[in-house]
Amino acid sequence: MTDQSRLKEPSFRESVDIMFNRAVALMDLSPGLEEKIRVCNATYTVRFGVRLRGAIHTFTGYRSVHSEHMEPVKGGIRYAMSVNQNEVEALAALMTYKCALVEAPFGGSKGGLCIDPREWEEHELEQITRRFAYELAKRDLIHPSQNVPAPDMGTGEREMAWIADQYHRMNTTDINANACVTGKPPHAGGIQGRVEATGRGVQYALQEFFRHPGDVAAAGLSGTLDGKRVVVQGLGNVGYHAAKFLAGEDGAKIVGVIERDGAIVDDGGLDVEAVRKWIAAHGGVADYPEATHVADGAKVLEHECDILIPAALEGVIHLGNADRVKAPLIIEAANGPVTAGADEVLRKKGTVIIPDMYANAGGVTVSYFEWVKNLSHIRFGRMGRRQEEARHLLIVMELERLSKDKELGWTLSPHFKEKYLKGAGELELVRSGLDDTMRIAYQAMAEVWRARDDVSDLRTAAYLVAIDRVAASYRAKGL
Ligand code: NAD
Repeated sequence: MTDQSRLKEPSFRESVDIMFNRAVALMDLSPGLEEKIRVCNATYTVRFGVRLRGAIHTFTGYRSVHSEHMEPVKGGIRYAMSVNQNEVEALAALMTYKCALVEAPFGGSKGGLCIDPREWEEHELEQITRRFAYELAKRDLIHPSQNVPAPDMGTGEREMAWIADQYHRMNTTDINANACVTGKPPHAGGIQGRVEATGRGVQYALQEFFRHPGDVAAAGLSGTLDGKRVVVQGLGNVGYHAAKFLAGEDGAKIVGVIERDGAIVDDGGLDVEAVRKWIAAHGGVADYPEATHVADGAKVLEHECDILIPAALEGVIHLGNADRVKAPLIIEAANGPVTAGADEVLRKKGTVIIPDMYANAGGVTVSYFEWVKNLSHIRFGRMGRRQEEARHLLIVMELERLSKDKELGWTLSPHFKEKYLKGAGELELVRSGLDDTMRIAYQAMAEVWRARDDVSDLRTAAYLVAIDRVAASYRAKGL
């Protein structure tokens, strides 16, 4: 198909609505409640000027609030030239459903600034970010109990630290000011494990999927993640961490990486760390020496592999290429990488799609932990860790005493002792909480997928679970 067919595709916002509508058609919601859940409550557009390089530059930003059935509302802030109201509203709606699915007690929101961050120096980006944060904070669109942003495409720890500091300056007596934004660096009120959380969540999601042989068979696959061929689009925060953990810890082979300037392919497996370093040094994958370069990167979405991980941006699998995508399993690390039209083509083909709403929920899950940490003003593990270690030591000493007294000849291996005696610190607790969340959410979603004849895909199942929870929350408010 040509670009012509893409023109007929719904927008990102419409795609989310189509998927929502498909799910609610299978539910018994009153039309009023259905409409209340679907609509975006409010979208704020701001234009502000910043004096830079001797001239005033005007920037346009958005903060959209989709649903306030729980507050604060939560959702990232994206920096990209493609940011627009339609996109921000679609992403805000996805946040509502995502939070409900992973039981993070938030409504859905999203923000964005039309900017190419690569065009600006660090000190200029700081000025722009602080001004944007000021505009949002003065309208309570950044607020610990009302609206809590996080990183997204084009933003990271650095921007979140500026936003937190800006909020502090405007609210000098707010003891909970640090909870106004998540994804901050650990030395500025953040939490261990947040940077890699979304990629780690993608890994945990796949691990859980492969624990269910029936689900694996539905994708025409078998076995474990070990040796599975993976193509990743976007080696940014999410894509890099997912690829690194899957290759380094689960034995998967990263056979293709797609970036802005093309793709690289090596069916023997790419060295993720080396590729990442190359991109950082050269700004792209072109000329990477150890692999075949493909100038039209999007073509590699169609490469022969077991698992395709789109981790860059929305709408990359569309009516124009869906029928050529060979991967039997797609995990949507990015938000909205598969259009509604492509979703239908892939469903008919039998491709299993682990949907964005679940697949990339690791970020908001650990953001939730960070927010709780900020409100409780204490690091996870600080109270219990040594006590846990002391109790473990008691058992080890008792075993060693029994062995000696009864002449049993037991010796505990030093490796076991060292691992068993170590109490859980913040990072271990964050990983444990994230793993638990990803397992439980998968099971809730997959149960609906397996149990209902009228549900043929995980996305519809995820929507059913999420919408049901949002509806219950509205009903409890008397709506
Ligand atoms: P990022 O900016 O760190 O990385 C994006 C990567 O995609 C970059 O390496 C960029 O060069 C690449 N890219 C951009 N345009 C491309 C194109 N046309 N073709 C190929 N590659 C391209 O962003 P991120 O934080 O990793 O976010 C990626 C996706 O994951 C987005 O859809 C975002 O909404 C979603 N997401 C991110 C988080 C998070 O915690 N950061 C959480 C949930 C969802």
